[in-house]
Amino acid sequence: MKNKSNITDIKGTFRLRNGVQMPYLGLGTYQSDNDQEVVDAVKGALQLGYRHIDTASIYKNEEGVGKGIKESGINREEIFVVSKVWNADQGYETTLKAFEESLDRLGLEYLDLYLIHWPVADKYKDTWRALEHLYKQKKIRAIGVSNFLKHHLEDVIEDCQIVPMVNQMEFHPHLVQQELIDFCNQNSIQYESWSPFMQGKVFELDICNGLAKKYRKSVAQIILRWNLQKGIVAIPKSVHIDRIKSNAAIFDFELSQEDIVFLDRLETGERTGPDPDNFSF
Ligand code: NDP
Repeated sequence: MKNKSNITDIKGTFRLRNGVQMPYLGLGTYQSDNDQEVVDAVKGALQLGYRHIDTASIYKNEEGVGKGIKESGINREEIFVVSKVWNADQGYETTLKAFEESLDRLGLEYLDLYLIHWPVADKYKDTWRALEHLYKQKKIRAIGVSNFLKHHLEDVIEDCQIVPMVNQMEFHPHLVQQELIDFCNQNSIQYESWSPFMQGKVFELDICNGLAKKYRKSVAQIILRWNLQKGIVAIPKSVHIDRIKSNAAIFDFELSQEDIVFLDRLETGERTGPDPDNFSF
């Protein structure tokens, strides 16, 4: 587990295995429309101090994300930009092409992190070789995976040249998967959460509302603080500037170890998204 005293402010980072600093709080953009909606969300977040934006080719909003980055006026080097190779593009050559297309849509020269979106059987190893190639070409500062369970990671690690640096997984009070987090920590693979709010359902959980009252914080702030104190990078999505702002107001309080364990124990195995061992897209 990362030391919570390292959690300082909106621009704070966790260090990846290769030394790259990854901001532990970012803006998610899944279902943010590729028009003024995503432009304003990205630009607004960056102007508020966020330094990490998560997109993917399948979100079909990379142009808008790129526009938001440009319009923010923040130097490119200060921003950690992430995209992902979609399932239909997996394979060696197809991934190289998909990567260039993402860069074009974003209007950028390089990415900070590129992820394999899902572990497509029989393809993800070739896809990983393409990511290793792009990394060696210095077109990506860090490479990783998403939705990889322990056996997928072990399979990649068995014959890769570079061990994935990040694993982005569904993570919220009903899907903690502590064994997978432990495995990633043991292998210096930075854990990152998607759908930290269970796409909104977390706000209905009584227990989270109880903690929010106790700390005089919102449920969203409790959940994000729990992510960071567990050493997990979080990328909450919102297109509302007031929410984007309040989701980052999490640096003036600390959850007790007891309450972290309490949240960990809410695990039910419930997913809001597909099971990485059983998806059909
Ligand atoms: P989240 O758990 O982040 O929830 C987003 C929802 O919560 C939206 O409806 C948003 O509404 C709402 N919301 C945000 N902040 C607040 C708040 N303070 N109070 C009340 N409601 C709030 O879901 P996501 O699925 O979007 O996950 C986060 C990110 O993770 C994605 O955007 C994407 O970047 C990534 N992701 C990756 C996946 C993968 O396979 N690798 C899969 C899914 C997501 P509104 O926008 O209207 O404010």
